[in-house]
Amino acid sequence: MAYDYDPQNIFAKILRGEIPNKTVYENDHALAFEDIQPAAPVHVLVIPKGPYVCYDHFAQEASDAEIIGFTRAIGEVCRITGVQPSEGGLGFRVIANTGQAGVQEVPHLHVHILGGRVLGRMVAPA
Ligand code: AMP
Repeated sequence: MAYDYDPQNIFAKILRGEIPNKTVYENDHALAFEDIQPAAPVHVLVIPKGPYVCYDHFAQEASDAEIIGFTRAIGEVCRITGVQPSEGGLGFRVIANTGQAGVQEVPHLHVHILGGRVLGRMVAPA
């Protein structure tokens, strides 16, 4: 079954400039902005500018240029926020919640970049 993108989702509205955001970084294919409810000292969302519901949708249908632009944006956010271990940062976690099991709230692909503190285990044991 194909993905059905909802153009009224909140991140689509951010991309159209209908809702403000605290931009951290932007390129031709991606926008990065601060999460409105930060779960860590660094909590930035990176979204592609194209209409993709989730990561597997993007991985299957985005162009090479979009995938490169999105991935480079993640790297730039890590650089800007200073979380890179290679530069003395503490490290970080990248999360892409997807669908019901992943508890995805906003149906536009986004990765969370979390850092600035030790984040604990990846997933709580069942
Ligand atoms: P999820 O879809 O569960 O991966 O998470 C959606 C994330 O979007 C949450 O961490 C929210 O705090 C965040 N969020 C929702 N609305 C906004 C907004 N207007 N600006 C920034 N972040 C938002």
